[in-house]
Amino acid sequence: MKNQKYSVESEMVHADQPENDPFGSHVMPIYQTSTFKFNSVEDGRKFFAHEEGGGSHAYSRLGNPTVDRLEQAFATMEGENISSEVGALAFGSGMAAVSTALLALANGGSVVAQPALYGCTGQFLKDEAPELGINTHFVDLNNLEAVEQVLGENPDVKVIYGETMANPTMTVLNIPAVAEIAKTHNVLFLVDNTFATPYHLRPLELGADMVLHSTTKYLNGHGTLIGGALIAEQSLIDAHNVALFRKNLGGVTSPFDAWLNLNGLKTFTLRMQQHAKNGVKVAEYLDQHEAIEKVYYPGLSSDSEHELADELFEKGFGGVMSFELKGGFEAGVSMMNKVEFCTLAVSLGTVDTLIQHPASMTHSVMDPEIREQAGITDGLVRLAVGIENVDDIIGDLEQALKALKAVMA
Ligand SMILES: *Cc1c(COP(=O)(O)O)cnc(C)c1O
Repeated sequence: MKNQKYSVESEMVHADQPENDPFGSHVMPIYQTSTFKFNSVEDGRKFFAHEEGGGSHAYSRLGNPTVDRLEQAFATMEGENISSEVGALAFGSGMAAVSTALLALANGGSVVAQPALYGCTGQFLKDEAPELGINTHFVDLNNLEAVEQVLGENPDVKVIYGETMANPTMTVLNIPAVAEIAKTHNVLFLVDNTFATPYHLRPLELGADMVLHSTTKYLNGHGTLIGGALIAEQSLIDAHNVALFRKNLGGVTSPFDAWLNLNGLKTFTLRMQQHAKNGVKVAEYLDQHEAIEKVYYPGLSSDSEHELADELFEKGFGGVMSFELKGGFEAGVSMMNKVEFCTLAVSLGTVDTLIQHPASMTHSVMDPEIREQAGITDGLVRLAVGIENVDDIIGDLEQALKALKAVMA
């Protein structure tokens, strides 16, 4: 079975077209309804007995036509070259996807995860999951020997959990190598592919079992919603009852958000092309700047992650990067207060450029020593390059860095 009829670029442009709308609507309507009417008792019985010929929908937590259409699009993008049927589940947030997946897959066992994780994922694994009997062994997943050792010593491991590119140093995960170990030990390998997106890299093709997304970021692209997704071979989703866990934990997405996301997907390929094109230009500009100690971006040929990224990524390396200011904390604060064109905000993957300084903002309440250990140094700045004219982005960074030099002098 093929998961798409046309090229993925074209499928995404057509992502929001309904297959058979009763009124011939060109764009997928928002089925803003909580419940659905049955034509007869018999139809209702068939629906709940999962028999053919009953109603197609009953209640929007169990399924909704607008959300179904979005899920088809997610399955198409991540399942491009997978021969078996690929399915997707949409969630009300990236964290709903992450927590639901971990609860469904790790139940009764433990998890192996990389230490540098998206903040809330790390917190969930460290604080909440253990209370539910799910413990995590934190290991650098690119240290394959260490992964082998942990799996050998802990036969109860059910899941290996990693992120394609990990904050703050944009470490690239060696997906094929970890996938091989996971297969040998018969554990599931989950990859959060939010930063790379299926435009650059498709974990299922590289051997991962399931892919997760915060669709809040690049997949929607316009910063208008909070959403998540899980994509895997349909047989695996079924075998682990992931849809049942979602139904009963309840982390579904709304028809309106699904519609917004479908609208965002139409320009997915174009947006990603431009993010990647701008990303490398901005990284190169920052890399030669005298106020900057180091730039972390796998697209730079000097980056420690470049070789592996070059092997695994296609068509560039996305738009997320971080860099270290020589002037430390003060320089970070000063630069943030000087940017005009870039938006001072957390998140990433929006069409406009976002910038933030973790030490004085998101991570300011953290103990400075623990913060340093997590790689969040005082002068670290996070930049999510947008799709604007790159000269405007660089021009703004230039003037903010110039003002900084005056402060430091
Ligand atoms: C944002 C993000 C999440 C969480 O997603 P939400 O949509 O905010 O719940 C998970 N993983 C990564 C890598 C993210 O960037």
